[in-house]
Amino acid sequence: MSSAFGYALVAALGNVVGALAVTRRAAGELALIEHFVAFGAGFMLAVALVEVLPEAFARSGPAAPALVLAGYLAVHFTQHTLTPHFHFGEETHAVNRVAGTSAVVGLLLHTFFDGVAIASAFLVRPALGLMVFIAIFLHKLPEGVTVSSLMMAGGRSGGQAIGAAAMLGAATLAGVALTDQISFLVHHGLALSAGVTIYVAASNLVPEFQGKRVHKLPEGVTVSSLMMAGGRSGGQAIGAAAMLGAATLAGVALTDQISFLVHHGLALSAGVTIYVAASNLVPEFQGKRGWKLPAAFFAGAATFYVTKAILDSVS
Ligand SMILES: [Zn+2]
Ligand SMILES: [Zn+2]
Repeated sequence: MSSAFGYALVAALGNVVGALAVTRRAAGELALIEHFVAFGAGFMLAVALVEVLPEAFARSGPAAPALVLAGYLAVHFTQHTLTPHFHFGEETHAVNRVAGTSAVVGLLLHTFFDGVAIASAFLVRPALGLMVFIAIFLHKLPEGVTVSSLMMAGGRSGGQAIGAAAMLGAATLAGVALTDQISFLVHHGLALSAGVTIYVAASNLVPEFQGKRVHKLPEGVTVSSLMMAGGRSGGQAIGAAAMLGAATLAGVALTDQISFLVHHGLALSAGVTIYVAASNLVPEFQGKRGWKLPAAFFAGAATFYVTKAILDSVS
């Protein structure tokens, strides 16, 4: 607990340091912190998938997969469904005051689980705790930049912007302090925070630098409309979409021919599927307003369980 708290304190201070870079308009620091977004995303995702998930599955047993999914969905709900305007990175356009305040509230669950992640990982073993701390710390500076610049874009003072970042840091410390007090978090904090970490890395940080602005529609439509926008004919556009379909068929045909794919195709495609779902599709609608898109997203996750129940009863 004590060493976890010390590391969490450093992570929490990262929020404030990020905010100070914004309020002091330190251009050099802000440019450096921007690179933390890409580096932090890679490190976080690697720690979440390679180190945290296997430990979470060992700790939470059969409940683990659903808890990871619940952590992921909870961040989407608080940060993007209940919140009118939120995205990672420095806020560069004017927003209303409510946007700043609601982003702080929406981020509290995520930053609380930043702390739960550190504490839960230290409960498993110190080396894991240290690795998770680094992963969390790397996105704490951009997190401070995000929330403080959003507050200032909404017309708040520099002091209020730093106060908002400090609140997020305090939520992280609360996460550490509460984890070994609440028996549910002792057992399942790691699985829940794995889902939260995957959301932050794959759906908040990766979309910030992937150059997503071009993509607006599902795969077939995107490729053909991109080709058309690039001055190609309708026939060439349909041909390009057909090539993607052919690549999919080739994947199916080759999987049982290549022994490596027979054994490891599922694990590799799990990573690909996480990228497509969390880094390509979710960012497409996470900034859009209204209840229909979030409702469709949560219904998609719920329908998975209905489908699974049907398949389980049949087999
Ligand atoms: Zn914005
Ligand atoms: Zn965070």
